[in-house]
Amino acid sequence: MNPELDRRLPELQRAAQAEPLGLYLHVPFCLDRCTYCSFTTTRDQALQPATIRRLIAEVTAWGSALGRPAVDTLYLGGGTPSLLAPEELEALTVALRQAFDLGPLVEATLEANPGTVDLAWLSQARGLGWDRISLGVQALDDTLLARLGRIHGSAQALEALDLAERAGFQRRSADLMVGIPGQSLSKVVADARTLAATGLEHLSIYLLDLDKACPLRGEIDAGRLALPSEDEVADVFEALQAELPAQGLQPYEISNYARPGAESIHNTRYWERRPYLGLGPSAASQLGPLRWIESGVIPAWTEGRGDTEVQELDPAELLSEIPLLGLRMHRGIDWGALRREADRRNLRPLCDAWEAHLRNLAKEDLVIWEGDQVRLGARGMLMSNGILQMFV
Ligand code: SF4
Repeated sequence: MNPELDRRLPELQRAAQAEPLGLYLHVPFCLDRCTYCSFTTTRDQALQPATIRRLIAEVTAWGSALGRPAVDTLYLGGGTPSLLAPEELEALTVALRQAFDLGPLVEATLEANPGTVDLAWLSQARGLGWDRISLGVQALDDTLLARLGRIHGSAQALEALDLAERAGFQRRSADLMVGIPGQSLSKVVADARTLAATGLEHLSIYLLDLDKACPLRGEIDAGRLALPSEDEVADVFEALQAELPAQGLQPYEISNYARPGAESIHNTRYWERRPYLGLGPSAASQLGPLRWIESGVIPAWTEGRGDTEVQELDPAELLSEIPLLGLRMHRGIDWGALRREADRRNLRPLCDAWEAHLRNLAKEDLVIWEGDQVRLGARGMLMSNGILQMFV
């Protein structure tokens, strides 16, 4: 364990025992690298056995260090968790059950790439207790998928959703991407409609976000491909806001739609600032007063050599995260509770300045106040990047 975390362990233990945690595990392997990807992942599968052994050891060590705390949400993300061998997935799941109290567990999600799943693997995962699956579909257009460097086509993505249902996953989510070079508005809406028609319970809609170093950025910088304009992207999000509720998928967060009661409980904890522990290369944790990110250098992490970056937020930063994250959710936040929190931290002037700004935005219908409850309106959601900037 990092020396700073070790020194602060009693505080971390108290926080871990105060309420159930969310637990995120990062599986940093992919068959190929997508052209837009900036996640911590590698194609070097020779590293996989040792990395997964280390991940299992970390699960055991953290469960013991924190006093076998209760966990109510699990999330196996990546990378590509569906590249785990059946025995690796089983060993990881058994280690989780031993190291943590999963009595309060209400959701166990795993991410999967449609190009790497079959019915046997999905059935085994379901049998081990994983009850929600998130599939990286991204688009239902083979030309766009090839441009993104995805290893699957659109038919395989739809087949994976079907296989997941046959394997017993009643909670299925898909990711869809907006802003791919060459993607038309009508195509995104048609793809969203097709996905909704599969009966899935949850849809995440992400704006393509390009890191400087990724190959797709190079194509755009060289003038071979062009990104859609901001106006075109805004039109897509606006069209989806109208289309998806008609398909039974209600928006509940800037990027997320769900059937009633099928919202992601694990992801909601990030927006509510509830505690979570992340294990694996580049995994982030937030527990008690501390936040930390593990090394993103996969071989170093696997050998226990990587640097962990530990941060303690000051009172103003902690306060600002409540509206910064909370206003991403369509239900918004209780401003009265925020005011009381600001009083407790001697930060009332800061809170009042934000409130004045939000009341001004309400005159343009960007923000909606109902008593002390405040949320972004439909147009406010489209302009959320600019609005939420006041809390940064
Ligand atoms: S599958 Fe996901 S994590 Fe892997 S390279 Fe593609 S975008 Fe990155």
